[in-house]
Amino acid sequence: MSRFRMYPSRAQAEQMLTHCAHARYVWNLAVEQHAHWRRWRKSAPGFVEQCRQLTEARRENEWLGSGNADVQQQALKDFAQAKNARFTSGFGEPTWRRKHVHEGFRVIGTDRVPEYQADGSPKLNVKTGRQVMGRSVVVQKLNRRWAQVRVPGCGWVRFRLSARGKGAKLPDAKTFRVTFRNGQWHIAFAVIPDPAEGPGTGEVIGIDRGVTVTAALSDGRKLNCPQLTTRERAQIRKHQRRAARAPKGSKAKTAEYAKAARLKAREANRRKDWCEKTSTMLARCYDLVRFEKLNIKTMTRSAKGTVERPGKNVAQKSGLNRSILAQGWGLLRQRTGHKAPGRVEDVPAPYTSLRCSACGWIDKNSRKSQAEFVCSSCGFTCNADTNASINIAAGQGGIPRPRRTAGAGGTTPPNQRSSVREPQPEWVGIPLF
Ligand SMILES: [Zn+2]
Repeated sequence: MSRFRMYPSRAQAEQMLTHCAHARYVWNLAVEQHAHWRRWRKSAPGFVEQCRQLTEARRENEWLGSGNADVQQQALKDFAQAKNARFTSGFGEPTWRRKHVHEGFRVIGTDRVPEYQADGSPKLNVKTGRQVMGRSVVVQKLNRRWAQVRVPGCGWVRFRLSARGKGAKLPDAKTFRVTFRNGQWHIAFAVIPDPAEGPGTGEVIGIDRGVTVTAALSDGRKLNCPQLTTRERAQIRKHQRRAARAPKGSKAKTAEYAKAARLKAREANRRKDWCEKTSTMLARCYDLVRFEKLNIKTMTRSAKGTVERPGKNVAQKSGLNRSILAQGWGLLRQRTGHKAPGRVEDVPAPYTSLRCSACGWIDKNSRKSQAEFVCSSCGFTCNADTNASINIAAGQGGIPRPRRTAGAGGTTPPNQRSSVREPQPEWVGIPLF
């Protein structure tokens, strides 16, 4: 995916917002159709049937008919894809799209280009033997920094070629997606990037993800995901406070909320940027990347509980959840996996932070504090996060007790199993009884 910031004129932006509205309307119709389905009913209409229905609806409904047919049909195609991928995509069943929140549409290229097989020979139709023509988006480079793309009903719309190096060549895609979020337009071309080449030296790196240090590498480096500054956080609070005090439904209220949202979007952008750069670095510099296996969904479960049984320390837990999610752990793992397919491994997480990376001894007393690790068996001293990442690089940690051969360690007596647990935080979740 290559994504650029788009700069439409006022008229173009208006037209594109209409496209967004049409795409959203069609998508929501499809969601409703499928939500209506029950086991004993006939199956909900598929893509082809929906396209036929769309043609009918366009004839009857003037507002819909005035819009671009391709944009509306692509919304159906998006829906069909989302529906097919509901078990694998991680997003689940396709759900409603809301105005101001999910603004976007897909455009299929209007240019026709001959398609080729993987070996370079022209792709021919099996029946007629004629050349198969595929779609391609119409893009034009204006200069080193700017390019323009054809959007139906809008003519040429300019976008900024921001990626250095990549900026030299224009994206070659069949479709693109336009989105409008937080007052900014973006264009994303549907291209699958080539996987990054590893160095070929067989070098292995372990990565320990944490809240204090976002990613501690086994070579001793500590990488931190940029957060908002104290000043920016204070600004968010200021705008939220002003919004809360503004009269209901007033213009000021909307404006203040918009300002707060823009600052929050800045944080998300920073995080994304950092994840992209770091994952590219990891994919290029190492042949094997090992992460500890984390279940972020269960880690960030809410402590709220139910009305009858409210949880304890709900605010602390939600604060911790927020700082976990602010690290972008999941995104870093996912993007590294995309860029280095087959070269990323997940190591079971238990004991990686308590095991001594020098002798293999596991003891909770070795971990003196958040940052300090002093082995209680061999005296090995190290930063706790770095120690954990060395264990991860070795693929170790999953064994509950040190091996018999492990240096001066020996074995842990069976009655002391509880001593090898990680230091547990005070329980802040839903009461178990
Ligand atoms: Zn040790």
